[in-house]
Amino acid sequence: MKTIVWFRNDLRVHDHPALKNASECGEVLPVVILPDRAFPTASDWWVYKSLTHLQLKLVELGSELTILKGNPSSTLSLLAEETQADAIFFNGQVDPVSRKEEMVLLELESLSKVDIQRFDPNMLLDPSHLKTGAGQPYKVFGAFWKSLQQQKIPWPTAAPASLTNWAHEITGSIPLKESGLRSPFNWDATLEQAWEPGETASFEQWATFRDKRLQFYDFKRDFPSLNGTSRLSGYLASGNMGIRALWHAVKRAQEDGIAPQPEAFLRQLAWREFSYYQLFHFPDITERPLRSEFLNFPWLNDSSEFESWKAGKTGYPLVDAGMRELWETGTIHNRVRMVVASFLIKHLLVDWRMGAEWFRETLIDYDVANNTLGWQWVAGSGFDAAPYFRIFNPTTQSKKFDKSGEYIRRWIPELAKLPDVHLHEPQTASEDVLMTAGVVLGETYPLPIVDHSAARARALDAYALIKGK
Ligand code: FAD
Repeated sequence: MKTIVWFRNDLRVHDHPALKNASECGEVLPVVILPDRAFPTASDWWVYKSLTHLQLKLVELGSELTILKGNPSSTLSLLAEETQADAIFFNGQVDPVSRKEEMVLLELESLSKVDIQRFDPNMLLDPSHLKTGAGQPYKVFGAFWKSLQQQKIPWPTAAPASLTNWAHEITGSIPLKESGLRSPFNWDATLEQAWEPGETASFEQWATFRDKRLQFYDFKRDFPSLNGTSRLSGYLASGNMGIRALWHAVKRAQEDGIAPQPEAFLRQLAWREFSYYQLFHFPDITERPLRSEFLNFPWLNDSSEFESWKAGKTGYPLVDAGMRELWETGTIHNRVRMVVASFLIKHLLVDWRMGAEWFRETLIDYDVANNTLGWQWVAGSGFDAAPYFRIFNPTTQSKKFDKSGEYIRRWIPELAKLPDVHLHEPQTASEDVLMTAGVVLGETYPLPIVDHSAARARALDAYALIKGK
């Protein structure tokens, strides 16, 4: 049997049941179909690097990757016809665009004689499986997490031992270099320094985290200056690492005594699962707030304030440090993601979808489910979200989670010489102190673009307008 294996956000050979099953049925043609994108994103760079790595892995196994561009279903239909393929195997995705592609493919008349099979390794569990006692999808994380912990998570599939090459000149196939995948704003060199994408690097990253940081995760994960989290999100978002493989690896580390209490980490993997689960059950949430009263929120969407936020020039050091970290590395620490998102939504009254779009362009770990639900959580428009009226004070957050100012000093060097006591709010320093530290407010570093108390009161007024609706 000749099987086309369609790769998408699963750029790996382990925990890839579509590839494994195809390899056991005969010859395999691994293919990736890239979209024609007008504007590159940071995660495109990650995908480019991952594909480079995947190509090598597939060659090692005896096959090679075909790269095509275009609409997935029609491209696969033409490919099946040209190669006389018997089957198309792929791993399912939960985001609405990918699911629609799958539906169209499954219903194509031209493929009626082709055996099309969908596998499900990209979530811990089939999202239609977990339901409340009343048979409804869970809307509260605590109950979802409790139920998830009682389930048996399927084991990941092993990588195929070898693949039988299906040599063929494919019409329209392009070399990876001509794929058009690149980072926006000529970022490649910067990202190259910060990350090494690919399946092998994902396992190395996991092993380092397991041995050095997993046991301290619960205490360190909230402090952005500490290297306390796994930094696996880019690998998970692109599918360099399978989520089931990671889940079971954590369980093994627990059994082996390397990390006797990994619950806090598993809980974050469950947040990912919950995001995917919600996107599966409520596919329009990338655009619509889950709570309908937020449809009428009186956003201000001031473009100059939005630009200041993007550039890390709001005058709130923790917010600015986060936005500059994003610009330099394509990622932000989770605690700081919450603070910058809250500042945009509540202090500036900018629609969360504008922030989510900026994250889509700039995050190397951009993940439609995690990003959408992250923003809806902060906005208060998600089902189990932080209530809107709980408004982060960016200065208090800064003093609590970056007390020594190490993170701020790393990303805002122009403030580095300020004493700790003024670092979190430079405008409280005297002229003398500012001068000694080489800071000229309004010139070398901006004054706060909004006053916290006034912005807080304005946000609460805006919320009061929609609350009764
Ligand atoms: P760790 O703390 O080591 O966690 C391990 C893994 O668990 C992560 O890699 C991720 O897959 C998952 N995870 C952790 N926290 C969360 C969470 N709150 N929600 C869902 N999954 C989680 N994550 C993305 O992967 N892509 C995004 O586009 C994204 N956008 C976000 C936007 C906002 C506004 C917020 C508040 C959060 C967003 N997150 C996103 C979630 C979280 O910030 C990142 O997953 C995390 O910071 C990645 O770092 P890490 O791999 O070191 O995480």
